[in-house]
Amino acid sequence: MSKVLIIGAGGVGGVVAHKAAMDKQTFSDVMLASRTLAKCDKIAAEIEQMHGRKIRTKQVDADDVPQLVRLLKEYQPAVVINVALPYQDLHIMDACLEAGVDYLDTANYEPPDVAKFEYSWQWAYQERFQKAGRMAVLGSGFDPGVTNVFCAHVQKHLLDEIHSIDIVDCNAGSHGKAFATNFNPEINIREITARGRYWENGEWKETDPLSVSRIFDYPGVGEKKSFLLYHEELESLVKNIKGLKRIRFWMTFGESYLKHLEVLGNVGMTRIDEVEFEGKKIVPIKFLRALLPDPASLAAGYSGKTSIGCLCEGVKNGKPKRYFIYNICDHAETFKEVHAQAISYTTGVPAVTGAKMMVDKTWKGAGVFNMEQLDPDPFLADVAKRGLPWHVEER
Ligand code: NDP
Repeated sequence: MSKVLIIGAGGVGGVVAHKAAMDKQTFSDVMLASRTLAKCDKIAAEIEQMHGRKIRTKQVDADDVPQLVRLLKEYQPAVVINVALPYQDLHIMDACLEAGVDYLDTANYEPPDVAKFEYSWQWAYQERFQKAGRMAVLGSGFDPGVTNVFCAHVQKHLLDEIHSIDIVDCNAGSHGKAFATNFNPEINIREITARGRYWENGEWKETDPLSVSRIFDYPGVGEKKSFLLYHEELESLVKNIKGLKRIRFWMTFGESYLKHLEVLGNVGMTRIDEVEFEGKKIVPIKFLRALLPDPASLAAGYSGKTSIGCLCEGVKNGKPKRYFIYNICDHAETFKEVHAQAISYTTGVPAVTGAKMMVDKTWKGAGVFNMEQLDPDPFLADVAKRGLPWHVEER
């Protein structure tokens, strides 16, 4: 029985709040705090109406560390689930250290003015979390998150050595909008327009953005063109998976999405530096974000499925073997359950499972952890029951 503080009332935060509220056994009290109180209150009202449970709400600017420390000391949660934006990660970690609270997030830190995401900034907190006797779990969404745990499962149960991993992510859903992103538009567009990167034979190799593609057959969805991207879980998996020779990440995009992105890029709307506009400084991608649909608003009427998994090749008892481990999630089903689309759902459910692992001490330890460093078995059992069943095929 533990209190949980969720920070960020966006698409993912809504799912985390619903799912935490639905688990009275684990979470004795739930608070949702975000920059805009009205968004928290709207989610809280929906939770009360759909699941009959009241949750607390609070306005907080997570970049204001003293304000956040005051809230943590007053509420005394067992864990903070950070589903605000990656820019807030370090501030929330600082506040957790000062208030003596465990920490979990779903995306690694990015400095606002450089489109660059890597774990170095958060790994640098290792000693401080160890000394404080507190636990920080990084990247407990789907990818990163469940994909890391899938790799840990294959390493623990199926292969003696994993030589190659292809993480493949397909959203075959349709929201009916000409152009929209399924999670925070700014973070999403920064990720996709960055140079591609994969790891092979001990070194990182770079590619031009969206210049490498292949067809992959996704269970439940069929064959889809998938593009090589850099994704944050590659960085930690390279360190933590034994015998790895190559790891890549692939994501599907439709023709229309790519055409819109190309045009927006060509006219400068995806720029992340400041430009002068009518006597004011604005950042084009932030302005674009204000024009695009809020990812949470896509949920009603979204149809189709996501299919995300890890194709792992390696050896077992000296013989070559290949396994595909994956989840399929249906947008309309997730809307029925928690009024969310499947991208928010597949991110929010693992965050709640990760938090449960921490509060009931199934996962324990002092320091900063990536998901594949923790026991995959209880996590995968819980996440399947909580809404994301998974499957393994030998291929
Ligand atoms: P949204 O933009 O929908 O929501 C983000 C929320 O955070 C907003 O409610 C926003 O408030 C709030 N917020 C922003 N800044 C602050 C601040 N300084 N203090 C308090 N609250 C703040 O994003 P999503 O829900 O789509 O995504 C949430 C996170 O999940 C992101 O970090 C994203 O990268 C991650 N993610 C991870 C995935 C995974 O599989 N691992 C997949 C998808 C997303 P306001 O509304 O007032 O702006």
